[in-house]
Amino acid sequence: MKEKKRSFSYLIMTMICFLFLLFGCIFVYSMMRQNEKDDLNSLYDLAAQEKMMILKQIRGDWETLSGVSICLGDLNITETDQLTPILTTINNANTFIRMGFINTEGIGDLIDINGNTFEQVDFSNESFFQDALAGKYTVSETQEDPYTNGYINYYGVPVYQSKKVIGVLCAVNNSKILRTIVDATLIQGGGFSNILKSNGDYIIRSSQHYDVDNIYKLKDIGSFSNDTYENILSDFASGTENTISYIHNGKNYWAVYIPIEINDWYILSIVPESVINGNYIYTMGVILIISSAFIIFTVFAYRMNKMNRKNKEHLEQLAYVDPITGYSSFDKFLQDIDSLNDYMQDSNYAFWYCDIKRFKYFNDLFGYDAGDEVLKYFADLISRFTLKSELFCRVNADNFTGLKYYKDKSELVGWFQTLNEQMNHYVTSENQEYHLDLSIGIYCVNDFKDTITFNDMINRANMAQKAIKQAGNDNYAFYSQDIRKQILMETEMESRMHQALENEEFKIFVQPKVDIQHGNRIAGGEVLVRWVSSQGSLIVPGKFIPLFEKNGFVIHLDRYMFEGICKWARQYLDEGNPKIKLATNVSRLGLFQDDFLDFYINMKNKYHLPDGMLELEFTESVVLNNNELFQTFVVALQDNGFVCSLDDFGSGYSSLNVLKELPIQVLKLDMLFFRKGANTEREQIVIRNIITMAKQLKMRTVSEGVEMKEQVDFLRKVGCDIVQGYVFAKPMPLTQFKQLLIDKADGFQL
Ligand code: C2E
Ligand code: CA
Ligand code: CA
Repeated sequence: MKEKKRSFSYLIMTMICFLFLLFGCIFVYSMMRQNEKDDLNSLYDLAAQEKMMILKQIRGDWETLSGVSICLGDLNITETDQLTPILTTINNANTFIRMGFINTEGIGDLIDINGNTFEQVDFSNESFFQDALAGKYTVSETQEDPYTNGYINYYGVPVYQSKKVIGVLCAVNNSKILRTIVDATLIQGGGFSNILKSNGDYIIRSSQHYDVDNIYKLKDIGSFSNDTYENILSDFASGTENTISYIHNGKNYWAVYIPIEINDWYILSIVPESVINGNYIYTMGVILIISSAFIIFTVFAYRMNKMNRKNKEHLEQLAYVDPITGYSSFDKFLQDIDSLNDYMQDSNYAFWYCDIKRFKYFNDLFGYDAGDEVLKYFADLISRFTLKSELFCRVNADNFTGLKYYKDKSELVGWFQTLNEQMNHYVTSENQEYHLDLSIGIYCVNDFKDTITFNDMINRANMAQKAIKQAGNDNYAFYSQDIRKQILMETEMESRMHQALENEEFKIFVQPKVDIQHGNRIAGGEVLVRWVSSQGSLIVPGKFIPLFEKNGFVIHLDRYMFEGICKWARQYLDEGNPKIKLATNVSRLGLFQDDFLDFYINMKNKYHLPDGMLELEFTESVVLNNNELFQTFVVALQDNGFVCSLDDFGSGYSSLNVLKELPIQVLKLDMLFFRKGANTEREQIVIRNIITMAKQLKMRTVSEGVEMKEQVDFLRKVGCDIVQGYVFAKPMPLTQFKQLLIDKADGFQL
């Protein structure tokens, strides 16, 4: 929607620019037309003015001549000797170059300003003479003066005697006089005028005329179509005035011509179009530049915006799409639930949180690409069983979350079982069937009245899912009050753990380890932690060790317990008691501390504890996942007088194969082997063989969680060295353990 709006506003902006340009052009064009008209009108006016000036000049000269001619006629003065003084006097009062009288044969005597005479000049063929003889006032075309270098015009008027023409009075004028009139500039200095004959020949050229030396005829001034030219000539012939436009040297010109009413002469006034339109072309240019700038700016802004949007979309794509599954990312999912808010008001809905059990092993086995395929397959599977109105996404690793509507909770379970069923029969790209299991936690929003954020709801689903892991067999769990309590407790413990360590609330308990091959004597004990809170309640490690393993606090606790037992052992030895074996648990995280070896070795040295007295128990998951690292540690620890044992053997995925490479000294069989009623014949075979094999590998064996006398007998028979179990004693405080060492110095009686 936003996108459309933006494009639309850019379109509008561009359109406004175009309209501005269009109206600007129309405005300028109409102004230009109007101005052209005005300018042409004023060109007419100017031409007319010049015509009047020329007429005035010529008529003035004629009048002078006419006055003289009347005198001459009345007085019958035609002889040169009589004429000379009269003409000299008149000439002095005028600007004529010369004057004279021409008889009817066309022979004239002339006299100039300086008194020089030019006798017997033949004018019989001159039209100005012939026309004057016919009774007209005439002026000749411009011609070269035969006596000086300049150009001249002859003026002629008839001389009458008794109403009969007896000759022609003529005067010679410099052409400059007319030229000065046409040279006057027109319209801001850009225009000029000329005098032409009706056949198109120039009579007077303006000195401002372009290409002035090459202009003799109308045709020379520029190019016009033949029609135009013919029209002008016909106008000239009929005495019509008009306007024309033509081109010279690529430049446009306007011209007007009007008849002067002397001979067949015309005044032709010319002005370049640029003089008329100059300003408007300039204005038009400015409008064009401004509009173009606007359009370019708009287009540029539009493109920039588009690019920004594309970048943003790309980033959004990156942020909103999970690269592995191609479905929503967690961010997008959260955003989508927010927008669903209203819709969910009156339906039952639940958040679920699901992961693939032991997915890590699949990855280890088939590689990460195959792992990614599983995730994609699972996402497609969820998508197939998800309504349009429901949502889901991958959160991270193999964790998925989603929102689902339901009427009855059994629907949710059914839906999950369908997914699980499909995953149970997953087929890899190599066509291998692999059994994958899911585990899901579900938070039914309507069951709780809590006002919490969607994120917290997802967290609760996640907690429910985590709770299954601890519980064991089920693969789904609904978030419940128990889980809630558990979580509250964990939160409480987490908030108190540091203080508790300082307050020495973590107590050392020891469970005796009994040597069943040598009179059931106590060989040593395993150090087990108990949290005795300030209120006096006792918390067993099963409640807090998993939490501390999650938050890393277990590292501090392990070290605290180890130092505690070292201190006690020192005192115990100082009291003159014999050496016993004391085992402490080392959590997986402890191994990854840079100072892991240093800490344990330094502590042993600090309390001067003899070799072989301290034992460290490692669970088999440590060994399996970090075999090489673990081996170097074991070697280093044993070199420093520690005994290393492998705890919980047989509880997980330990393979007998690992044992052959492990330089470990003690193997602790997991309690699972000794659960009540589990001692079938088959199980006994397994236990016997493990023990036999351990013996052959020079390992001592400890059986844990043994509760029955019969089991002890069986274990003694198959060669097990030590039994640690309720059958002899439960974990107990140190003082009690010390007493037990005294009481049972001769061994337990069963
Ligand atoms: P674990 O290391 O396997 O310790 C043996 C557990 O089995 C102890 O449970 C012990 O009380 C119990 N047990 C021994 N004999 C019997 C029996 O006959 N029947 C039954 N039902 N149980 C028996 P506990 O003390 O509750 O400790 C549980 C686990 O907590 C330990 O298992 C160990 O993994 C962990 N843990 C205890 N203390 C520490 C510690 O200081 N550091 C670390 N990292 N883990 C500890
Ligand atoms: Ca242990
Ligand atoms: Ca154990």
